[in-house]
Amino acid sequence: MKEVETGEREGAGMLFARYRKNRDGIRNSKEMGSICLICGSMHIVPKPGEPHQLLCRDCGFAFFRYECSVCGNTVDGRDPENPGCESCGRRICGCGSCHCSTGYQHG
Ligand SMILES: [Zn+2]
Ligand SMILES: [Zn+2]
Ligand SMILES: [Zn+2]
Repeated sequence: MKEVETGEREGAGMLFARYRKNRDGIRNSKEMGSICLICGSMHIVPKPGEPHQLLCRDCGFAFFRYECSVCGNTVDGRDPENPGCESCGRRICGCGSCHCSTGYQHG
């Protein structure tokens, strides 16, 4: 176990520790878009074949992270505020939009 320093700068380790404890607002943290919440790795790459998902190269964990096409806010599958939609499988944005409710497909 690595110790997390409580210094003046909020590094990846601190962010990781914070969001491990409480995932609320993880979608609003730009840094957490490149930090794996499972293993803390920063080797995050776009998941091949899944334009709305990211993949941790170290532990293989994949998660949704993309910009809402309606309001432009970040949607993060690890955030409790972005639950999964049962119809389209995408995540539901804070504005209430997901893939099937954007008017993009059938209404
Ligand atoms: Zn990982
Ligand atoms: Zn939205
Ligand atoms: Zn949907």
